[in-house]
Amino acid sequence: MGVMSTPVDDKRVFQGLAASSGQVAGPVFVFRKRGREQVPGYKIERLQVDDEISRLEDAFELTHAQIHSLSAELHRRVNGPEASIFEGHAMILEDPAVLDKCRRKITDELCNAELSVYQVSSEYAAVFEGMEDDYLRERANDIYDIGHRLIHNLMGTNEPLVGPSAKPSVIVADELSPSETIAFPRHLILGFVTDRGSITSHASLISRALGIPAVVGIGNLSEVARNGETILLDGTSGTVILNPTDDETGNFNRTLESSKIFNASLGELRHKQGLTCDGCHVPLIANIDSSTVMSELYAVGAEGVGLYRTEYLWLSLNREPTEDEQLEAYTKVVRALPHDQELTIRVLDLGGDKIMSSGLAASHNEANPFLGNRSIRYLLSNRDVFKRQLRAILRASAHGTLQIVYPMISVLEELLESNEILEECKAELRREGMLFDENVKRGVMIEVPSAALIADVLARNSDFFSLGTNDLIQYALAVDRLNETVARLYQPAHPAVLRLIDMTIVAGHEQGSRIAVCGETASDPVMAILLYGMGVDEFSMTPQSIPLIKKVFSCIDRADALKLAEDVRNFYARPASEIYSYCQERMHELAPEIPLKNPL
Ligand code: PEP
Ligand code: MG
Repeated sequence: MGVMSTPVDDKRVFQGLAASSGQVAGPVFVFRKRGREQVPGYKIERLQVDDEISRLEDAFELTHAQIHSLSAELHRRVNGPEASIFEGHAMILEDPAVLDKCRRKITDELCNAELSVYQVSSEYAAVFEGMEDDYLRERANDIYDIGHRLIHNLMGTNEPLVGPSAKPSVIVADELSPSETIAFPRHLILGFVTDRGSITSHASLISRALGIPAVVGIGNLSEVARNGETILLDGTSGTVILNPTDDETGNFNRTLESSKIFNASLGELRHKQGLTCDGCHVPLIANIDSSTVMSELYAVGAEGVGLYRTEYLWLSLNREPTEDEQLEAYTKVVRALPHDQELTIRVLDLGGDKIMSSGLAASHNEANPFLGNRSIRYLLSNRDVFKRQLRAILRASAHGTLQIVYPMISVLEELLESNEILEECKAELRREGMLFDENVKRGVMIEVPSAALIADVLARNSDFFSLGTNDLIQYALAVDRLNETVARLYQPAHPAVLRLIDMTIVAGHEQGSRIAVCGETASDPVMAILLYGMGVDEFSMTPQSIPLIKKVFSCIDRADALKLAEDVRNFYARPASEIYSYCQERMHELAPEIPLKNPL
């Protein structure tokens, strides 16, 4: 037809998943893993079996020591639950069945140690890869990671971590394991781009915790990129440009410059309250867990804690903490807050993706752990555990202002029974002469659609609501919040979700209850404005997001948010993507300096 097609090799602009925000430009370093073809496989003589086994055992020991020091390094660099990632690796190495299987391959099949490790790790990984559960499927990567390391240790080769010039580079890889991600020397890493992976994979979690920009699920960049080529990586939008033109570099540098100025401007609001431009107070509070360093809250200007996820205490100990251990943990937090700030402690929310390897509380024996005996359901069927926790929280209430929130309430009976158990605990403590706040407030997490639909009834039996939008969206839309393949259906601005939120706010306010939101939507500038307009009273989020959201509110008047919510109520017949785009456009008009997640 005479029309010239775009040459295939001109594909330089890639769109992936924005795994960790920030922009960087620099040279590419392609990280290639050694594949199957590099694993030496050969038959050994029967006489060599003992030597081969001791080589194998030495490699296990060395790998164990390496994992231990990688884990220590990770703990040094990050504080959150991501710091425990290598504990899973250590468990695989310590499992006697794994070493035993490798030994047997050497003895029975007379194969060399490298091949035995390769075969055993592939068999194990294949089992995990075939599992439906996302969390378990991810474990296949941990097994490959360990297998790789064992083979390298047997061969006496080191992983090629950085290019020969050892210049700070953007690492481009097919996929990265957690140990590869952490093993790169921090000062040589500008960013990560991977062909595969999801934003919930461990490597993405580590990148976010380390503040390294990253884009994942990009396609086949590792096949086309060459070492030393220039790459522009935007971890905020998920865009990557290889061998950019001068215009592209110019645009990128302008974005980089304005995001630097913008980030610096956020610091100026640090000591101010969350206020709209016309002076209305919007409390911006923090979601924390037992590993949060409390001074971080001061650094970002948090006005209290809206969600203390207590299950991380269980997860970090891999057992139930005693009443006194809990008392100590809760007291530490309540004491660290100024007197005028509140701490909301959520009772144990184990289950779903938050499981303990010791098997306590909801395990993978359940076909549908997200719909199983998780959270408040587990507590109500294990009253002793519930009572120990409530007693600890009540005792901590003698040291500051705290309130209790029940997660995953789906029927009225759960709330009534929880309140009764709380009263029993109070009566016990009174008898024991222990001090506590008699008027401690009880809240309900609204994160199951049925709870939103009976919010009026729940409000009559509680003091406040906290909207857990992470789960509310997942349960309302039947979309697994961790599954990347259905991520496009996970829509915070879906009219069904907005209607549930609307009902909750109206019902709560009618009873005089305050409404907080503590799901991730609180830290999305677009959704934060909309939710504020819909009537949400306070916003609880990861501490790092507070400066941005403070800035957002400082750019708008309360009336702007109310108008936006009113407009959106008239759009409920439209698809979620249109509703979100409309809100995004409005935000852009009101606050053009706020960076957009998705280009308009
Ligand atoms: C939520 O579901 O929105 C929430 C805050 O709880 P979590 O993310 O811990 O399930
Ligand atoms: Mg939840």
